[in-house]
Amino acid sequence: MGVQPSELAAVAGELGASVARVIPADSVQVAEWVRWKCRWGCPHYGSNLVCPPYAPAPGETARLLREYREALLFLADQSWRVRYLAGELERLALAGGHPAAFGMGAGPCGLCSPCDLAAPCRHPHTARPSLEACGIDVFSTVAANGLELPCGPEGPRVGLVLLR
Ligand code: SF4
Repeated sequence: MGVQPSELAAVAGELGASVARVIPADSVQVAEWVRWKCRWGCPHYGSNLVCPPYAPAPGETARLLREYREALLFLADQSWRVRYLAGELERLALAGGHPAAFGMGAGPCGLCSPCDLAAPCRHPHTARPSLEACGIDVFSTVAANGLELPCGPEGPRVGLVLLR
């Protein structure tokens, strides 16, 4: 038996997540408006290969989610910590018998400065798109799972690890 999602949730807490819970993958909400807010409202739009317009569009994300059964939803105080957790938890899930595990972070990628948009990603095993970059409605997804996020720049950031 591989690593259980509940065990990943426990590890997430040990690594700094303030909340970590296993949720049904079909509770992850995707909406077109999220991408519009990236395009008209985010200074990072087009600045790196994991943000729009390079990130998967909402329709692609919705199709991907249908291939997953559950996900580990986690919150942390900073975007960089969410990205770190997404990478670590994906690696643990892979090693623990979840070959399709995929981590998703928060905010733009900060691994290279600047990101070379004309070349392939330099860290494809580490760089991961944020939920919002892929059209996931973070507020509705969190609310659908009994949690609440303040609307605005303050407050926790949200990550996911998709699990089949
Ligand atoms: S790892 Fe580097 S090359 Fe890849 S998306 Fe991030 S900044 Fe760009």
